[in-house]
Amino acid sequence: MNILRMSKMYMPTLKEDPADAELASHRLLLRAGMMRKNAAGLYTFLPLGMRVLNKVEGIVNEEMDNIGAEQILMPFVQPAEIWHESGRWDDYGPELARVTDRHGVEYCLGPTHEELITSLVRNELRSYKQLPAYLYQTQVKFRDEIRPRFGLMRSREFMMKDGYSFHATQESLQQTYDETSEAYARMCDRMGLEWRAVEADSGQIGGKVTTEFMALAEYGEAEIVHCTCGYAADAEAGECICEVTQYERDAMEKISTPGVHTIEELAEFLGIPNTSCVKALSGKDADGNIVVFFIPGNHELNDIKANRAVAGFELLTDDEMVNAGLFKGSMGPVGLPAGTRIIADVNLKDIPQWAVGANEDGFHYVGARLGEDFQVDGWADLCQVKPGDKCPQCGLPLDGARGIEVSQVFQLGTKYSESMGATFMDEDGTEKPFIMGCYGVGVTRSMAAIVEQHHDENGICWPLSVAPAHVCVIPLTVGDDVVQPAAEKLAKELADLGIEVAIDDRSERAGVKFADADLIGWPLQVVIGKRGLAEGNVEVKLRRTGQKRDVSLDAVAEMIRFAHRVDFKAGAGYGAFDSIFE
Ligand code: ATP
Ligand code: MG
Repeated sequence: MNILRMSKMYMPTLKEDPADAELASHRLLLRAGMMRKNAAGLYTFLPLGMRVLNKVEGIVNEEMDNIGAEQILMPFVQPAEIWHESGRWDDYGPELARVTDRHGVEYCLGPTHEELITSLVRNELRSYKQLPAYLYQTQVKFRDEIRPRFGLMRSREFMMKDGYSFHATQESLQQTYDETSEAYARMCDRMGLEWRAVEADSGQIGGKVTTEFMALAEYGEAEIVHCTCGYAADAEAGECICEVTQYERDAMEKISTPGVHTIEELAEFLGIPNTSCVKALSGKDADGNIVVFFIPGNHELNDIKANRAVAGFELLTDDEMVNAGLFKGSMGPVGLPAGTRIIADVNLKDIPQWAVGANEDGFHYVGARLGEDFQVDGWADLCQVKPGDKCPQCGLPLDGARGIEVSQVFQLGTKYSESMGATFMDEDGTEKPFIMGCYGVGVTRSMAAIVEQHHDENGICWPLSVAPAHVCVIPLTVGDDVVQPAAEKLAKELADLGIEVAIDDRSERAGVKFADADLIGWPLQVVIGKRGLAEGNVEVKLRRTGQKRDVSLDAVAEMIRFAHRVDFKAGAGYGAFDSIFE
């Protein structure tokens, strides 16, 4: 095995934090000389970063191979024609980068490959006997993100592992979906990530059943809710079951509420909790018909759910409200203009009496009775779930967290196979569209997520499984006729044992070497100095905890070999050489 010689490497570390790098992962990958920015959302991986990237990719590919998916490589540039067939040439929007060749033919830079793979297999897979088929690639993608930021977290060019499966039956798809979910869980574990599998919304890509794998991180872009029972959901998609409290009255009563416009003002005015008040939001459907949503006072309307309940839903502007005869700040279900549709959040079923607007400036109703004083046209899950709401699985209060979406699995159904005419001959002799699944892992984003979870104020603390090398040998005085040869000998010994080793053979001061070793994040450092050597000792330091220990030079290689073997066997997601310090 080669020894990484830091004196020869292209690893330009930086002492200062680069400007405009807010996230730790962005800052540290730049500072540790692992990558450089070339333009907005475009990065070069330098040698150390490339080593990490290769390991992350290796874990991903290995887990895919283990579940029987086969690796292929599709072109990065894709013909526009197939995107017209699926309808996504028009639907995808400006994130899709379009180019025209010298003959005037249009192409796009691949943001994902459902179209391409569907166009491939429709000519090759003809019979149910060839199914299921499962293909994947690990490749650069391009999405012209409106706001590329946070380094590798949201870049424009990034590495993705994308897999696609083709099935004759839903059961077969479900099996592959489940196996892939398990493989994704193992990938996260092996990368040392703390993660949750969350229920998600399928967004742009289509289909219904989907799960996102979120690495938990303080600065993750996604908000999630999760429970000790194992339930977790994207807050944008999770079901909202919340506490509402009945403010009981003998009958409906109209109350003068001067100056009261918000739920907080109403709750304070009435001296009741905001969970007893009902919030109204007015909008229109795709045809311009007026709809009013009613939700518990302490929650917000979720856009995705609003659109699911009412196709094309848009909130009314203040002017539109006036034109529709609605009173901002005092809307209610009693006495709305004729023809207004009332849709209420399912949680409100638990309070048959509402404290709510009276459709008159400065007035509210209390004790407005559902089914007697007013009717509801439809019920739906409408609210954005938040921490403290009830777990849909076990009923306990949900916790909140933020997450980085590192991967996602989808059941696509027949969306692409139908629109693109990709069919096979089934057992019963009829032509049917393939039932499809697709599965994506953000390889470069995973690398950033690992750094988000594994760093401290001095730099990165790579888990053993993805570290640029496992051990760094640091001779404190290069050129010294005892220290230098001892360091070289140890490095060679470790390399011969199959351990990835770097040696800091630069003629730098000890302080610079220590700082760089911590910044780069080698899991284990072996420091060799004159004083220690005089007693036959070297110092080993565990990067993650900072623990240090003197070990005899003669024993250190064997000790490292043993810990390396034990820890790698244990999965080595996070634990790295811990046994040396136990
Ligand atoms: P997001 O919601 O974060 O924009 P997405 O859901 O659109 O991502 P997918 O189509 O599911 O992304 O792509 C699969 C994976 O590719 C994602 O889970 C993510 O890890 C990664 N990915 C997507 N967009 C980017 C990006 N701009 N930069 C880096 N990785 C990305
Ligand atoms: Mg996604």
